[in-house]
Amino acid sequence: MATRILIVTDLHQRAVLYDALIKLAGEIKPDAIILGGDFLHHTGLLPYGHTQQLTTTQCAVELHAIEAPLMLVRGNHEDENWFEFRDAWKSLHTSAPVRLNGSFAMIGSVGVVGFPCFMGYQQPFSEGQPLGGEHYQYWFKHLLADHGDDAKRLWIMHEPPTGTQISEEGSPVEGNAWWRDAIEEHQPELVVCGHDHTTPISRGVWKDQIGATNVLNVGQNMDGPLHATLVMGAASDRLQFEKLVVDSTASAKTHAAHGWQIGAEAVP
Ligand SMILES: [Zn+2]
Ligand SMILES: [Zn+2]
Repeated sequence: MATRILIVTDLHQRAVLYDALIKLAGEIKPDAIILGGDFLHHTGLLPYGHTQQLTTTQCAVELHAIEAPLMLVRGNHEDENWFEFRDAWKSLHTSAPVRLNGSFAMIGSVGVVGFPCFMGYQQPFSEGQPLGGEHYQYWFKHLLADHGDDAKRLWIMHEPPTGTQISEEGSPVEGNAWWRDAIEEHQPELVVCGHDHTTPISRGVWKDQIGATNVLNVGQNMDGPLHATLVMGAASDRLQFEKLVVDSTASAKTHAAHGWQIGAEAVP
């Protein structure tokens, strides 16, 4: 049976996005959920969007409702606020939150690598793991040596690789040139990124390719609906994925009737 991994990015502490994620997780019951960075919103910056913003502690409380294993990849908005989130998480769970930060996890039959993020204050989240400012060749070779081809299946990186249709060229959210080099060098099956919230939505393009690698950014609307992707994979077949657009105000019953296929674009 295929492993199913739900991936969302750029929740930015928005209540409507957290609510939609929790509802979606309860409906589709994935094997794991990965938050691809900017699930918090670094204080001192103006909040994005107009709807309610959760506190950092409330984010940890909301995520406690999720039954599936949760893994966290850093974005530029995980800063010193990580300490508050981590403390709140640990007060609710018996263990610390699981980070993928220049590190590898096997989720069912799918190997996953979470990349660090180069932007912002990285040290709190990194807790001694690789920093985004360290060239990937320093740390990725160890994952490759330990896990072989499993380290070249699903990569999650907050910043997009540069030079694709799913981020805006020449803008602060264009992405990371090293990540493009890493993709060209190692050709993973699938890369999921975020950081540029608007370009995929405004262009209506959420998938591009670098060589044989599919690269996804489903975008994000700060006031909803939630944009997410569901990745499905068995040990031998190539990973499949679909885009999900979920309105938290619609009833769970409506979603169940739609089987989560309405508003979804499946790509083999
Ligand atoms: Zn963001
Ligand atoms: Zn970002």
